[in-house]
Amino acid sequence: MARVKSILSEARQIERAVTLIHLGARLQVLESETELSYERLLRLYKEVSGRSPSKGQLPFSTDWFMTWQPNIHASLFMNIHEYLNKAAALDEIDTVIKAYQLYLEHTQAQNIEALLSVTRAWRLVKFIDNGMLTLTACTRCRGQFVTHPHEMARHYVCGLCNPPARAGKGRSPDLASTH
Ligand SMILES: [Zn+2]
Repeated sequence: MARVKSILSEARQIERAVTLIHLGARLQVLESETELSYERLLRLYKEVSGRSPSKGQLPFSTDWFMTWQPNIHASLFMNIHEYLNKAAALDEIDTVIKAYQLYLEHTQAQNIEALLSVTRAWRLVKFIDNGMLTLTACTRCRGQFVTHPHEMARHYVCGLCNPPARAGKGRSPDLASTH
């Protein structure tokens, strides 16, 4: 029985790894979220993506999430993630995968480039979990947006309600339709 269980668990981890590679995840994400060996992951990565994984550091800074358009994309993703977290009993990484797939569908439906990579989405959930970032409700539209934890909630206005002057009339993902 134990053997069957371990085979099932391994199959599940391979499936997760393959899904993440298809979504464009960095190798570090796979290393962190599966128990498969580095050599095995490297082989899988090359097989599935047809290329070697990119080297270099993961994005460790929260700054990117605070810039205007990325913040709207990050907030859209987190709204989906929070919804799934409450609605479905999934493992943490599966919630990230599912939320990211829905985020991609949402941006495709609106003909918007998906600015948020799956690796950044995964980092974002970690930043929220460890309190480096949080979600704050906009005082105008009531949507939940990614902010620093010390944001003044009583005065917070989101980037959709108060876009920077240089932003022009570009289309932004519609947060309201995810509710
Ligand atoms: Zn707003």
